[in-house]
Amino acid sequence: MIRFEQVSKTYPGGFQALNRVNFHVAAGELAFLTGHSGAGKSTLLRLVALMERPTLGRVLINGHDLNKISRRQVPYLRRDIGMIFQDHRLLMDKTVFDNVALPLYIEGYTQSEARKRVQAALDKVGLGGQERKYPIMLSGGEQQRVGIARAIVNKPPLLLADEPTGNLDPSLSLEIMNLFESFHQVGVSVLIATHDLALVARMRHRNLVLRNGAMIDDGLASGAYEPL
Ligand code: ADP
Ligand code: ADP
Repeated sequence: MIRFEQVSKTYPGGFQALNRVNFHVAAGELAFLTGHSGAGKSTLLRLVALMERPTLGRVLINGHDLNKISRRQVPYLRRDIGMIFQDHRLLMDKTVFDNVALPLYIEGYTQSEARKRVQAALDKVGLGGQERKYPIMLSGGEQQRVGIARAIVNKPPLLLADEPTGNLDPSLSLEIMNLFESFHQVGVSVLIATHDLALVARMRHRNLVLRNGAMIDDGLASGAYEPL
């Protein structure tokens, strides 16, 4: 699903955020991405999400070499990727329904098709019946669930989450992680960047570790990863 081959990313200005990173995440796998602040986690996710291009090396997503796809193809490939952010990035002047329906409107779904999909997505995240509310009327954990519903509404095979529990207390964090677990259970590939190591230990999934832009552990050789 995701393959990095000797991937380096140097930003304009010369800062090297990733240094010859190699790893592979198989289809249907759930993996964490950890490391200190500034280690390169967001940069790695942005490369996977086609928001940045590698400076050196190859990034393959679902067999597509990102160096070989044209600018025009980017929106099509991005549809296969659901992205979740720490600050959820909801539109505060739109209802829950409109926030979740946004990706469907962009793809040209009709109103009635969109309604079915949005309801299904909200049911999956435990927010059925909240369509008419505005984000401000919801708790932080519920707002993050709306962000997750928006990411899954067009059923992408790959979910990327950047510090999805960064603003939540431990019990809400666990609920959000269990939600990702449920998508993993039905075959979705999930990559979650987080600094919450206690939660990572509890979830018992693979942990990819970045330090200063280098991948110092891919969670395979160390024995730390023992699938249940
Ligand atoms: P993390 O998500 O692990 O905190 P990031 O990938 O956000 O790490 O950042 C890695 C390093 O790259 C940081 O030092 C950050 O300041 C730098 N960086 C990130 N984005 C840019 C950018 N667009 N331009 C220049 N430097 C950047
Ligand atoms: P997050 O931690 O939520 O991923 P960041 O603060 O790392 O957010 O980055 C937010 C935005 O700012 C990104 O688009 C990133 O490319 C940019 N950015 C981060 N660090 C730098 C930097 N040192 N110079 C320029 N842009 C940066």
